[in-house]
Amino acid sequence: MESLKLKSKLLYLLLIVGFGLGVVGLIGYINIQNIKRNMDTLYFGSLLPLSELNSITETYHNTLASPIYRWNNQLISDEQAVEEISLGLDRIDQLWAEYLSHQKQPEEMAYIDYTASQIERLEHYFIQVRSLITDPGQAHPLSLSTLDHNIRFIHTIIHQLIAYENASARYEHALLLAQYENALMQLILFLGTTLALVMGLAWKIFARIELQQHQLMASTETLQHLNFKLEQASYTDSLTAMYNRRYFNIIYEREFKRALRSQKPFIFMMLDIDFFKQYNDTYGHLQGDLALQAVAKVLKNTLQRPGDYPFRLGGEEFGIILTDTDCKNGQLMGEKVRSTIESLKIEHKGSKILPILSVSIGGICIIPTAQMGDDELIHAADTNLYAAKERGRNQVVFSNTL
Ligand code: GH3
Ligand code: MG
Ligand code: MG
Repeated sequence: MESLKLKSKLLYLLLIVGFGLGVVGLIGYINIQNIKRNMDTLYFGSLLPLSELNSITETYHNTLASPIYRWNNQLISDEQAVEEISLGLDRIDQLWAEYLSHQKQPEEMAYIDYTASQIERLEHYFIQVRSLITDPGQAHPLSLSTLDHNIRFIHTIIHQLIAYENASARYEHALLLAQYENALMQLILFLGTTLALVMGLAWKIFARIELQQHQLMASTETLQHLNFKLEQASYTDSLTAMYNRRYFNIIYEREFKRALRSQKPFIFMMLDIDFFKQYNDTYGHLQGDLALQAVAKVLKNTLQRPGDYPFRLGGEEFGIILTDTDCKNGQLMGEKVRSTIESLKIEHKGSKILPILSVSIGGICIIPTAQMGDDELIHAADTNLYAAKERGRNQVVFSNTL
């Protein structure tokens, strides 16, 4: 359930990232198109006209005024002068048409119209000059000062237009820069917002994952602790709080193998309370339980070394495994357990040997061999216990061979 939620959150995250990138791409595309259009305006709308306007002034000077001065100084013929003037007029017409063909801002149209009217006025003037050359008998002779004035005048007008186009180019350039910076800011802003959103969401998701991981770890720890307790409980006898038969089986196998490997003596003893049926019959089952606990206490207190393992095997039967010791000491320990129980002097009127509670112990001490079956030792200890019972109880029968 939780992982499903996380999955859908991750999906949202991906959707946001996808959407963000899409919008960023779109904005980028639109702005690049804008920039391209502005570049066109700048180069083809403002810079190209400058060269045309410069050519127009140049034509006025070189192709129109210059031949008239040369003709006046008789440096060229009438025909040559007429031809050059016609050429110049055509050239100006052509250059002006080209200039007009570029994109124009509405606010510059008034000045352009004014310039056009002045170019037209000059065209009439030069046509007049041309006919004066072909027909020198006309009423008004050629005035060089008028020519000079006209050339200066048109030069000023066209230069103003050039200045205007220059300013316009500078303005468009500034506009382009502003738009570019604006686009850049928008991109940065959008990318920043998208990134912040993604980071925020990712942080939330990962915080959640971390929290769940912690919860999981805590649960696992609790579970491990419970498992440990359960395992302990399954190995413990509830009446005496000693290790039970289940744990005995494990320890017996483990220690037997260890003794086989290390070739050290392995001691196993079986303990049985004497006439316990009668004890129960005399004092009741509850009192019987207390007697079992008293015997268990003696076993636990007597066998305290790391290699000593006392167990309750079932009913009023106990088992003892001793490792890291020798056979002599093993027998002594059995004897010690027996005598300590006797010294408790727990009243037992039903016993046929003594008026107190006693136990019989059958023990075996052996250095295991590979051929030896593990139940052989149990069988031997059981046989010795039976012998102890047979010989009058309240005693230890211990052997060092099978
Ligand atoms: P012996 O000297 O030959 O061992 O005689 P015994 O009476 O001790 O032998 P037997 O095996 O016939 O009796 C065992 C008795 O132990 C029978 C049962 O009532 C008693 N007993 C077994 N488990 C418990 C227990 O958990 N609590 C109590 N109170 N008595 C138990
Ligand atoms: Mg018994
Ligand atoms: Mg018994």
